[in-house]
Order: sequence, then C-alpha cells, then structure tokens
Amino acid sequence: MVSMYKSPIALILVLVLLMMSCSPSAPEAEDALDSEQSGRSSGEPGTVDDAGGVGSESVGDAYVDSFGNGGYDVEHYDLAMTWKPDSSQLEGVSTIEATATESLQQFNLDLVGLAVSSVDVDGQAASFSQDDSELTITPNQVVSAEERFSVVVSYAGQPVEGTGPVGTSEPSGWHTRDGFAYVVGEPVSASTFHPANDHPSDKASFTYRITAPSDLTVAANGTLESKDEGSDGQTTWVFDQPFPQATYLTTIIIGTLDVVDGGRSASGIPIRNVFDTEIGAAAAPVFAKQPQMLDHFEELFGPYPFDIYGSAVVNDSFGGALETQTLSIYGVDVVGFGAQAERIVAHELAHQWFGNSVSPERWEDIWINEGFASYAEALWLDHDDPSFTYQNWIRMTALLAGPELQRPVHPPEQDGLFELGVYTRGALALHALRLEVGDEAFFSILQTWAERFEGGTASTQDFEDLSEELTGRELDGLFDAWLRSSQVPPELDGVDLTRAFSGSN
Ligand SMILES: [Zn+2]
Repeated sequence: MVSMYKSPIALILVLVLLMMSCSPSAPEAEDALDSEQSGRSSGEPGTVDDAGGVGSESVGDAYVDSFGNGGYDVEHYDLAMTWKPDSSQLEGVSTIEATATESLQQFNLDLVGLAVSSVDVDGQAASFSQDDSELTITPNQVVSAEERFSVVVSYAGQPVEGTGPVGTSEPSGWHTRDGFAYVVGEPVSASTFHPANDHPSDKASFTYRITAPSDLTVAANGTLESKDEGSDGQTTWVFDQPFPQATYLTTIIIGTLDVVDGGRSASGIPIRNVFDTEIGAAAAPVFAKQPQMLDHFEELFGPYPFDIYGSAVVNDSFGGALETQTLSIYGVDVVGFGAQAERIVAHELAHQWFGNSVSPERWEDIWINEGFASYAEALWLDHDDPSFTYQNWIRMTALLAGPELQRPVHPPEQDGLFELGVYTRGALALHALRLEVGDEAFFSILQTWAERFEGGTASTQDFEDLSEELTGRELDGLFDAWLRSSQVPPELDGVDLTRAFSGSN
C-alpha cells in the first residue's frame, strides 16, 4: 500500500487533492462588464468589403460556452501589462500575430471584465465592441484568407476572477490578493487578463512584458529574458515562452518571491522553483525529487518537450495545483501535505508531455490530460517506492473514484470535466491498455504520441488510432469498455473492481 494512504485522514486529504489537482476553476458565470463598457466602441469604422466573412465568436465547444473563436490562428501573443497593487488595476497592450483561415471583415477575441480603449489591425484603427466575454473587431480593411495580420489591443481595469465554464466552482484566471497577484485557471483563464482566442485548439508562443513596483518579483512561463528597473520605482520583467502554449497554461505571479535553483535533469534541463518568501523553506522539500522525476519520465515518455521546468507556490489556497507550462503552480495548501504531495508533483510534471506539449483538441478529450498524468503518478511510485504494487494502486484508485468509476470518461458528463472519474478511470484505462499490448508496445505508444503531436493538439480518436497502428491490433473493444461504457470492466490486473470501488477488498 502506498504510504500516503496509511490513515483515513490522509485518504480524505488525498481525495480532496486529487479532486482539486489540475482543476482550479472558475465560478458561476459572472458578467463583469458593466453597462457603461458593454457595447462601447471607438475608432474609425472604415470601409468594409462585403466580400469578407465573419469569424465565428465560438469554436462550438460545449464545455466552455462561447470561449474560443473561429476565422484565424494565433501564432504569438506579446503581452505588455502594468500591475498596480495599490488600486488592483491592470493596464495592458496586447499585440497578437495571427493568420486568417478565412477572409475576415470581422472577428472576435475573448476578454472578460476589462475595458478596451483602442484596437489597431495592421497599424490602422479598427472599430470594436464588447459584450460579455466577446471583443468583436471590425478592421478597416478586410483581412484576406491566409494573410498574416497583427492586432494591437489597449485595455485596462480591475481583473475579475472567473469566467463561468461549466462544471467548476472556484475562481479562475487573474487572482488579486493583498499585495500580490497570480494567474491560475482551467479551462478558461487567459481572457480574464488579456484578449485571447481562449481555447486549447489555438496554441501560440508568448512574450510577457510585466511591469510592477520594483520591490516585487515577477515570475511567468518560459525564460526570463530581461529585467529593467526604471527610475520611477517600476521594474519591467520580460519572459519568453517560444514553445506553443494553450491559453489556459499561462501563469504569472507578482509578489514577494524567492527564485530557487532546483537542480537539473540528467539531460540538462534547468529547474527553477518560485516560492512565496513566507513559505519558501517549507516548500522546498516537497519539490526536491523533481530532477529524478524528470529523468524517469524522459526514459518513459521521451525527451522533455521544453527547455526549462519548475514549480511555483503562492501564499494562497486555491485547492490544488495546475500544470502551467514550464512552471506548474501550487496553492500553499498542497505544500501542507509535505511528502504526501509527491504524487501531485509527479502529476504536474507529467502534464508537460501530456496536456501541455500535446494538448486536447476539444475539452471532451480531457482524459488525455488527466488520465495520463494520473497514471504517471503510478509510474513514478513504481520507480521510487519499493512497497508499491499496481494491485494496491488499482484498489485505491477505484476506492477514491467510488461511484464516479461508472461514469463514462469520453466524453465526460457536461458538468463532469474535472470529476474524479476522468482522472481515475482514465488512468486505469491506460493500465488496461498496457496489460493488453505489453510494456514495450505501450511505452512505444506513449513516446510516439509525445513525438508525433509535439507542440500541437490531439484527440481521443488520435490516441486510439495510434495504439492500433503501432500494435496492429483491433482495440475498439478495450477503449469502448474503459472510456465509454456505463459499467467499468469488472476486473483489472487480478483486482475485482466491483468490490474495490466499494472498498470491500
Ligand atoms: Zn492534472
């Protein structure tokens, strides 16, 4: 039995952690725009060529309502932001480089609760309007299909937590706290602090240019490129994330922080951790095994897909952790579990391959994030804990899931994007596949998956197709049984699941 499950209290705590891990989330739909801002527009509405089309204001993903937009593909976000802690105000100028996928006389970005003052498209003022989460932009000239274009949006306001995706109840996106701020949220987060095509189907590289009072430290995804202290008591920090990144995987942390060297992987990947100064000493041991975890996962999954990693801990409890790209973010509550948080640390690291480098095409594919990262916890414990057995892991996983083990994983229920069954039954599905095809074929599937779809998106169907391609076997029955049936298979690896999930064996 895994040591973290030794006491019922620990079991409950772990259950809570597992439920919350990687699912910080957003509250009830909250229309942050007041009537003064809503519908306001400015700029010169130039001549519009009727030949141009209208980019869709939604990608039609039912799990996130209107978030995501059609008609273009973003390549890069350059986000210049100034945060003023005294007034909790954020002022931003975002430059978005994109390519039109159709002729556009109008298109949308997602933005919630912040007032736009101007929009330029290819250097010319564009007209625009704001309504709920939508920023609708009408360029002065039609953007031709396949044309690269740039959009510059100036905006300001007090960011409002949460954008109202279904199935979640916690604040999401930009969090303002007393004297510090941080970003965490899934599935929708970015549009609470910058205009975005806020859906993982449109990944892009990022530059962050964040200005804050000089007595604060800023951390963000990617690598620190420069830090310029101005004469006005303000310092601008520039971070570069050159690898494609889904919008929900941004984190920005502004506060009193220690940036701590966390070692290197054997392959040379540097690990830098970012701890709130008040909790740094307590946090460090929790993350001490990250270099060894990275080594082990590179052996199993192939090369780490980015050029830096690390973990950040903020002095706030948000009920879990999120695998924000190259810098996973944790609430201080996770650190309170000490060594028992180790599997969460493994989970967030594994997401860098599964979820971050290879991202879900649609949110209905969430199990290819959470099932994979949850199975990676077992892969780490099998390597690191001599007392680990898969049979005990299966029993505990089934016990944790309880009745949720009987809910389909793909697609999950409309309100069940982050329910425990997605994590646990998804992980058991991978173990079932491994037993069916053997270790060599199974890890070949995982490595080919990480390599073939690196930096992009993929679907559940892609995973099933790849598994059949590499094994030459018909696996529909296995995937149907583990992902889609209303009854989980009764047995796995010699464990009677019908008894295990009720805790009777
Ligand atoms: Zn996760």
